Formats: sequence, C-alpha cells, structure tokens
Amino acid sequence: MLIKTDVIVLKKSKFGEGEAILTLFSKKLGKVKAVAKGWKKGKGKNSTTIQPFLYGEAVLFKGKNLYQISQMDLKNSFYKLQEDVIKLGYASYILELTESIIIEGQTNNRLFETLIEVLTEFLSKKSDFITLVKAYEMKLLVYAGYKPEMNICVCCGSSELDKVKFSSRQGGIICRKCFNTDPYAMNISTITMNVIVYLMRTELSQIAKLKIKEEIRKELDKIIKNYIYTQIDKSEFKSLIFLEAIETLK
Ligand SMILES: [Zn+2]
Repeated sequence: MLIKTDVIVLKKSKFGEGEAILTLFSKKLGKVKAVAKGWKKGKGKNSTTIQPFLYGEAVLFKGKNLYQISQMDLKNSFYKLQEDVIKLGYASYILELTESIIIEGQTNNRLFETLIEVLTEFLSKKSDFITLVKAYEMKLLVYAGYKPEMNICVCCGSSELDKVKFSSRQGGIICRKCFNTDPYAMNISTITMNVIVYLMRTELSQIAKLKIKEEIRKELDKIIKNYIYTQIDKSEFKSLIFLEAIETLK
C-alpha cells in the first residue's frame, strides 16, 4: 500500500552499504522509520543525499519491516541552516528534541506545522533564534501533552500564589504550602512565569522578533531544561553537547 504524506527527516542512521535508515516525522503516520534506497529527488536522474531537515511530500510503502521511500517532492531542504554553525546546532536540537518526544504511529499535526514554522523562522535574519528555541520547546511540550500548570498550584489547586516554586516532578508551579512535596522544586520569578505563559500562547512569528533579557533567559533555560529532562526521562542531547563544545572554543 502506498501512502502519500508530508514528511520531515529528523534523523539519519547508516544501514548497510549505501543505505540509510531515516527517522521521519510524517503527517499521516506520526514518527516512522524508513529505508532510503534508490531514492531520487523529484523525477530527475540525480539522486540527492537525504539529510535531516529535508521536508517534502513523500510516497512511502511498507516493506517487510520498515517503510521505504519511493518518491519525494521536495518542499524545503532548509539548506541555508548550514551557513551558521550555532544556528545549525540549535536547529539540530529542535529535531533531536522532537524525535525524542513524539511517538511512533501517533499523528500530531499541530506539532508538525509548528516544526516547519520554527525552522522557516530560523532562516529569517530578523528572528532571534534563541528565543525561537524556547518558544518551540514550550509549544512542543503543550502539543505533546506535557503542558505545565502555570495558573494554580499543581498540587492543591490553590490560587494563592504569593510565593511559588516550579516543580518539574509535579508538572508546574507549587504554592508555599506544597513546597515539601518536592525538595527539588526551583525558584521562579514572576516575570519568568509570565514569559512561559506567553511562549505557550503566542504565535511563533510574533515571538521571533522578541529578545529575552539574558538573566530571564538563564532562568527560563534552567527551568525548561529541567522540566524536559524530568518529563521525558532523558539526560542529554547530542546537539546540546555539541553547542557547549563550540561555546568553550569561543
Ligand atoms: Zn499547593
């Protein structure tokens, strides 16, 4: 059976001689693994190497175990991301994070559209891509079912929030009375709380123009990272290790 669907390549792993296994995020099938064998770009003769970030309409068919890509009409290669190594590092993190959170066989069209949108915004010179990463992280969490509670205490439901902490384990803010439920809960400023809510609610194109102050970004970074690691039970991302290595070379 042939399935025609929009896909984006999230990951490529080697598989035998001249073949690769691709992890795709597809609109109709969710996350799927597919073999790229004899794949040709469009109808031309020259086969193009399939790389992560390629976005297009693919025709997939189910082989014995894996899907195979029989055809792909390219919509965007996001090739220009290669021009800036830091930008490419963050864009790679976006793919890696998406790959770790989405589930095989489960569609998520809102997330699919948001992924294409964030990568497109990445190409714009006017966009602040660090802000975009934060926005994408929050939207991904919401669309994948990990929305943190930011309005009331996630433990007792209280709206008396004169002093709060953020608990990754509980999944949101906790009030003073509930501090003892999570010894690892982190301090969070009101402004960081508001930024998180803003990032979850606002259109990416609007967020892209925004530059978050360094100190708020640091707090945001710490909280979101801790939340992601706790919720999806992952301890590292290759792309972030790569980015840290580059930062130390500066
Ligand atoms: Zn409480």
